[in-house]
Parts: sequence; C-alpha cells; structure tokens
Amino acid sequence: MVQLEGLCKRYGSLRVLDGIDLEVATGEVVCIIGPSGSGKSTMLRCVNHLEKPDQGLVRVDGEVIGVHQRRGRYVELPASELARQRTDIGMVFQAFNLFGHMTVLENIIEAPVRVAGQPRKEAEARARELLAHVRLEGKENSYPRQLSGGQQQRVAIARALAMRPKVMLFDEPTSALDPETVGEVLSVMKLLADEGLTMLIVTHEIEFARDVADRVIFIDGGRIIEQGPPSAVIEAPQHERTKKFLSRMR
Ligand code: ADP
Ligand code: MG
Repeated sequence: MVQLEGLCKRYGSLRVLDGIDLEVATGEVVCIIGPSGSGKSTMLRCVNHLEKPDQGLVRVDGEVIGVHQRRGRYVELPASELARQRTDIGMVFQAFNLFGHMTVLENIIEAPVRVAGQPRKEAEARARELLAHVRLEGKENSYPRQLSGGQQQRVAIARALAMRPKVMLFDEPTSALDPETVGEVLSVMKLLADEGLTMLIVTHEIEFARDVADRVIFIDGGRIIEQGPPSAVIEAPQHERTKKFLSRMR
C-alpha cells in the first residue's frame, strides 16, 4: 500500500533522511520509534508530500505521490492533483489542528463537502457514525475548546477518517496530551488497527507499539537501523543504538 524508495532529504548540510526504503502492506500497522531529531516526522511528511524528498519516491497504492514523469524527469504535480492524492492519506499530528471556529461536526464534514463535493446530509451522517466510532457521540455541536485534549485528538482522527483514506499517518498523536487522556486515544487507534486500516505511527508509547504494531522500525540519523516484529525489535533488539534508546524509554 505504501512504498518508500531511496528517500533522501537534507536541510543545508544536515542529512535528515539518508536512504529510507520501506514497504508497508495493506492492513499493516507499522510503528516508528527513534530519538528526537532522527528524521521520523520528516519521513512521515514525505509520504503525503508535505516535505519534498531530494531523492527517492513515495508510492501509495501504486501511485507516485507529488510528482510525475515528464520527458524522463520527475516534476511536481499541479496542486489540485496533489490535493486529490492527499485524500487517500489521512494524517493526525501531535497538535490537534482542529478548526477552532467550527463545531466538531463542521470540522469532520469540511473536507468531504468542500474537497470531495459530498452532499452535506450524507457527510453529516457519516460524521455521526465516525463520532460514535471514536466514542464521542453527542459532541457534534461542541467547539474544540470545550473538549479535552484526548477528545480533540479523537475528533482529529474522525476528521482524517472522513475521507476514507487508504492509509493513516500518525505523528506522535499522544505526545501533547495530559497523561489521563492518552489511553482513550491509543484505544481508538488500536480499534482502527484491528479493523485492518493501514497505519504508520510515530510514537514514544513503547507498550502500545508492542501491543499493536505488526512491525516496529527503529530510526536513527535518518536511517532504518533495525526493524521487525515487536517481539524482536522491542523485546530483543540487536543493535546497540536500539538497546540504548529503549533503555532510556523505560
Ligand atoms: P524527529 O521527528 O525524529 O524528531 P524531524 O524529522 O522532525 O525528527 O527532524 C530531523 C532533523 O531535521 C532535526 O535535526 C530537525 O531539526 C531538522 N529539521 C526538520 N525540519 C527542518 C526544517 N524545515 N528546516 C531545517 N531543519 C529541519
Ligand atoms: Mg517528530
């Protein structure tokens, strides 16, 4: 479903991604762990072309993201084409990024109605279903500021799901939350994983990664250092750098 091929990215002289190759199968849940500054967010942001890789390609469901070939060279896609591609790729960030002046329901139907041209009634019905799914029924008419961080993050998840994405990207979705609301967000993510959604999750929640990931990837210095099932990478890491990182996390 997702292919990263030779992704490289620099900022000035800083090599942030140094040749990332990764294939994620349909329905697979991949957790990405690694130290701060190791390139995790940059890698995720390359998937939906929020960052343009200097080298390498991203494919989602076979389609190259953000660029197309013209006379043997890759050139940027028009914005409208990129926007269409991005409807396949849901993203949830650390900060909730909800529209503060819109109700929960309005936040969720915004993209389906404005971008996908869905009839409002249909989008609303789907939004109510999604709210029930993230256990927020009855919050349709609340404004983001009236919700806890965990509730806002669950709205952000519902909003991303409203476009029926083929893959969901999560960048430290619980890092900004009060500890008591982390669990409710992780349990919604586990539910989505169990339903077979393809997910790439950057997280510091090692216990969650152990429970939910099909595969754990440890990144350091813009490279994949180690990957495998949680029973290998988390329980029995092979690399010194992975061992050191995990020992500091516990
Ligand atoms: P992580 O998510 O693993 O903490 P990031 O992908 O956010 O790491 O960042 C990797 C490195 O790239 C860091 O050293 C960061 O400071 C740097 N970086 C990220 N974005 C930019 C940018 N827009 N300009 C310059 N440096 C950046
Ligand atoms: Mg990051």
